Amino acid sequence: MDLALSAQDEAFRADVRRFLDEKLTPDLREAGKKTGGVLSDPPATTKWHKALYEKGWIAPAWPKEYGGPGWSEMQRYIFSSECARAHAPLLPNFGTRMCGPVLMKFGSPDQKAFYLPRILSGDDYWCQGYSEPGSGSDLASLQMKAVRDGDHYVLNGTKLWTTHAHFANRMFCLVRTAQTAKPQEGITFLLLETSTPGFEVRPIITLAGDHEVNQCFFDNVRVPVANRVGEEGQGWTIAKYLLEFERGNAYAAALQAKLAAVREAARTERSDGAALADDEDFKRKLAETDIELQGLMVTEHRVMSQLAQGQNPGPASSLLKARGTEMSQRITELGIEALAFYIAPFEPEARKQGANVKPVAPAHGLVMMPQYLNSRAATIYGGSSEVQRNIMAKLILGI
Ligand SMILES: Cc1cc2nc3c(=O)[nH]c(=O)nc-3n(C[C@H](O)[C@H](O)[C@H](O)COP(=O)(O)OP(=O)(O)OC[C@H]3O[C@@H](n4cnc5c(N)ncnc54)[C@H](O)[C@@H]3O)c2cc1C
Repeated sequence: MDLALSAQDEAFRADVRRFLDEKLTPDLREAGKKTGGVLSDPPATTKWHKALYEKGWIAPAWPKEYGGPGWSEMQRYIFSSECARAHAPLLPNFGTRMCGPVLMKFGSPDQKAFYLPRILSGDDYWCQGYSEPGSGSDLASLQMKAVRDGDHYVLNGTKLWTTHAHFANRMFCLVRTAQTAKPQEGITFLLLETSTPGFEVRPIITLAGDHEVNQCFFDNVRVPVANRVGEEGQGWTIAKYLLEFERGNAYAAALQAKLAAVREAARTERSDGAALADDEDFKRKLAETDIELQGLMVTEHRVMSQLAQGQNPGPASSLLKARGTEMSQRITELGIEALAFYIAPFEPEARKQGANVKPVAPAHGLVMMPQYLNSRAATIYGGSSEVQRNIMAKLILGI
């Protein structure tokens, strides 16, 4: 595979850089730089979403007919690399990467016409209601009940670890509509508004001190049958399709930017005359990580070219998910090594956008510890590494 940029791609990159220079205002860059977790928070994400929407760049992977920009896989890669390099806020992707593709494939014409434009414009903020206490890896065991009552379903139960439910006005979720011998067959996929009476969100604070995840409670929440995607009992098929997109993320571009930050930290951190960046052992670790990142990037290109030909990512998405998140953890570990004793201060206030608290850690170190702590969860959410390896063993290696 020739990874050198063509003249056309070089011109595209220049275009993207011009756009980022103009639209990525200092407050947005600050929000991006201070993000210790997977996603940045509103209002920065709302503002950045709007800027990308107005440019027609908010859903890089969507087909043109639904409002995508019609980019090649290389253009998409360039775009995400440049956004990472420029510290753009990390946008939630529950609408564009998860619910959107599901609606395109399984949604009714009315659902597509209503929801897809709202995902693009940012009018709706989605969250994902899959996991429950005791039903994460074993998702098919989920118990949240949806009982039919006329033209509504009545929902009772709970969803756990729901990322950004406290910002979301809509949730796509899996519910149990029947107790079947095969648990997968009794699952249905529903869309709901978080303002529906009986729906409650309670925060869970992460190790890094952030409010990212929640537990959601449902007490007789009434959801119109018209909000069902696909048929009753088809939820498992839809859920699996969605998970391929959730796991088939491109990690390499953002990880390269993180590795660059680690290099930078290693050049400046030590005061005993020799920087950590000159240490042979650390240099070897950086080089090994860099080489593995190149491997990940090539694999991502391969999967993205399948997507460009209209295929879905398939089980290769498990490979990307496992490798991408494990590499993310490794890079944050190198960051901790480079940052040395500056990892100690716990400074969530200094990470707030517009904060006037002077951080103890150097600017580049402010998020390294939160990112390290946050990335511990990366090999769990979206399906744990062990579960991804089971999928690879079964569907890729055939064992
Ligand atoms: C930060 C964070 C954000 C999340 N966001 C969301 C969200 O927005 N929406 C949502 O629906 N869910 C979300 N989740 C939930 C996530 O998908 C689950 O945590 C995940 O699927 C693991 O399930 P579990 O927590 O129940 O762990 P368990 O399934 O109980 O797993 C515990 C351990 O057992 C191992 N294990 C389980 N089964 C097997 C097996 N068959 N073979 C080998 N090992 C196995 C696992 O690898 C893990 O190490 C989030 C989780 C986290 C931590």
